[in-house]
Amino acid sequence: MTLASEPKTRPLGVSGKKYPFALRVALPVVLAVLAAAAIFHSFLFWSMRSIDAVSVERQRDLALVVIGQLRTSVAHDQESATVWDDAVLALQRGADPDWVNDNLGGWMYTFFRHNGVVILSPSDQPLYAYENDAAVPVETYGDLRPLVAPMLAELRRKMRWGDPQTIDEHFRTPGVSDLVMVRGRPAVVSLKPVVSESGKVKQTRGREFVHLAVRYLDGDFLDDLSKRYLFSDLRFSRQGETAKNQDKLPLVNAQGNVLGYFVWSPYLPGRDFLVSIKPVLVVSFLVLLGCVGAFLAFWRRNEKTRQEHERHIHYLAHVDSLTGLLNRPSFERELDDTLSVFHEEVARGAVIYLDLDRFKDVNDTLGHAAGDQVVREVAQRLSSLQKKGTGVFRVGGDEFVLLVPHCDAVGAAAICSRILRLLHAPFLVRGARVHLGGSIGVALFPEHGSTASELMRRADVALYEAKTAGRNRFAVFDVDMDAVLRERAHLEQDLRAALVDGREIALHYQPKYHAADFSLAAVEVLVRWQRPGYGWVSPAQFIPAAEASGAILPLGHRVLEEACRVARDWPLESVAVNVSAVQLRNPGFAEEVRQILRDTGMPAHRLELEVTETSWLDETGNSLDNIRALREEGIRIALDDFGTGFSSFGRLLEADVDRIKIDQSFIRGIGDFPGDMAIVKAIVDLARVKNLQVTAEGVETGRVAELLAEIGCDELQGYFFSQPLPEADFVALLQKPAMPRAAVE
Ligand code: C2E
Ligand code: CA
Ligand code: CA
Repeated sequence: MTLASEPKTRPLGVSGKKYPFALRVALPVVLAVLAAAAIFHSFLFWSMRSIDAVSVERQRDLALVVIGQLRTSVAHDQESATVWDDAVLALQRGADPDWVNDNLGGWMYTFFRHNGVVILSPSDQPLYAYENDAAVPVETYGDLRPLVAPMLAELRRKMRWGDPQTIDEHFRTPGVSDLVMVRGRPAVVSLKPVVSESGKVKQTRGREFVHLAVRYLDGDFLDDLSKRYLFSDLRFSRQGETAKNQDKLPLVNAQGNVLGYFVWSPYLPGRDFLVSIKPVLVVSFLVLLGCVGAFLAFWRRNEKTRQEHERHIHYLAHVDSLTGLLNRPSFERELDDTLSVFHEEVARGAVIYLDLDRFKDVNDTLGHAAGDQVVREVAQRLSSLQKKGTGVFRVGGDEFVLLVPHCDAVGAAAICSRILRLLHAPFLVRGARVHLGGSIGVALFPEHGSTASELMRRADVALYEAKTAGRNRFAVFDVDMDAVLRERAHLEQDLRAALVDGREIALHYQPKYHAADFSLAAVEVLVRWQRPGYGWVSPAQFIPAAEASGAILPLGHRVLEEACRVARDWPLESVAVNVSAVQLRNPGFAEEVRQILRDTGMPAHRLELEVTETSWLDETGNSLDNIRALREEGIRIALDDFGTGFSSFGRLLEADVDRIKIDQSFIRGIGDFPGDMAIVKAIVDLARVKNLQVTAEGVETGRVAELLAEIGCDELQGYFFSQPLPEADFVALLQKPAMPRAAVE
């Protein structure tokens, strides 16, 4: 797990596999759009193809009609000269070629653009031949003879027997026409008899002169056709080969033989339309694609935001926002999962429950922001342990849990030692070096439980054990510990009862001596509890319980009141009473003390209150207000257990106090450890500068007492001089003559 990031270990609450957006949405939408575009395009294409097909068909029809018309008009043209008495007579007489040319040959070219004329004799012999407007030898059309022979026979048959069609088609004479290849060129060849107009010139039926006209279908005919009917690229082709987008129309003669093809590029309105709208189509398609793209992007963003929201909500629900570690519900689920996953082969592992020592002090004195900073830092240090399936969770204000699968007591002990080492380094908060530490309880599964709640409860029991054993250590759960826990609840209950009853609570008095001559100087009042069935219980055991349960307030009041009453008239400089940080934080505390002084008649200047530095740095300001008010009253303040806290000495000495009490832990080693001596010396020197009184507590030997006196302490206290004594014993001590210093040694 990375701190302050979304959990990656398990897709919590997200069920099922989810396909990516591209597959789930984008692809189907894009495919649908492409399909729609393809269908639209196909439809358009098909429509345009149909239009084009119709158009091509019409142009073919048109070409056929034009060719048909040409055949008719050639025949009609012929009739303008062939139905003519003079022509029959001239031919019968063996006419002059020039006359024939002027009236039947070249004339046909000049007026009707017939490309060739051949006049055939009644016995089918070519008599005259013309090409355009000039006479040519009859051999010019020699190869035409076999081709027209059947047509000629047909014509003579019609002439002989009559042709019913002639009337219908508004021809004056029968005729035969067909498509023929003439000298390699496609042509309409039309045969008409030369007949008498008036009927007065006699000819034998079927033995008329025949006028053969040739009209080529390539050359100017094609030009004319192209121009008039808008056939583009129109040409004649024998084989009918076409280029792309060209169409062809076969020229078929009466026998059904294909002579060749007309080839042209048909007018394709559909294609032209498609071409003309192509840019519009392309642009429209691109715009459509753009719109779809924008829509998809919008959708995607929307979905992303929604997913991020979901992830965030999920994150908030499962992750501790301060540290980024998984939270308590996540831990419980993870533990349940672990226990059930391994169900068959029996799950093994450890639940390591860590509670920071003195964190409450940090929070109370340096403020919540500082507390948060410390918690974050702890999370960071712990995250280095997070590997191979080990999960780190924050399950409470200053409580963390490590869930270590496949771990036995030895492994758990190693991890606990590592945790304690990690917490050993000081925390830098607001410029102050804060020394914390942690107490750890361990429960192993399956030995200590098979459910999450059972394991957590047992780890908690072990944790309590570690704390009562002196903190900054770990304890592995043991069945005996449950008894300890029950005992704690019992103790709280008994203490409450003791306070109501009052008789079990007693005060002991420990004298304090002048360092200069070891003469009696003052007294410290220490509370005692004679608990039925247990004997005297040390305040070190029940004061924390009293603080936690709130019982410290009535207890503190009781101690202060009794101390003032009992010690009021003792011939001592001062009476020192311990005050808990919880009492000091109470806004009415200063007034409470004033009231006790009034009630007991104790002079304010003879009362000294011993407070610890934690109360000193209380963020609420109540403690400082109380201290200020008490000092104004004349009451003296001593800073107890000096040197054990996490504040720097220099900073502490700025505090409004009258005395400091150097903690026992420095005093004890003063004769043996030069470091302790140096610290005590430094404290004494600093106190001198600040004009503070210095008391050394825990003085157990004469040698230590001598050393402290040399260094310059003002007061000495400890077993070397006297244990804390019951009231009667202490009163007896007061009556003893002063102990001369020399006598001590
Ligand atoms: P403290 O204020 O530091 O009190 C000194 C403790 O050291 C006392 O323990 C005393 O018996 C012990 N002591 C004195 N001389 C020596 C010595 O030469 N060697 C050793 N090893 N110990 C010595 P005690 O009476 O068990 O009190 C423990 C703590 O309980 C006190 O530490 C004080 O913080 C707290 N306490 C005691 N009475 C009260 C009280 O009335 N109110 C509050 N709030 N706390 C109290
Ligand atoms: Ca004390
Ligand atoms: Ca002390």
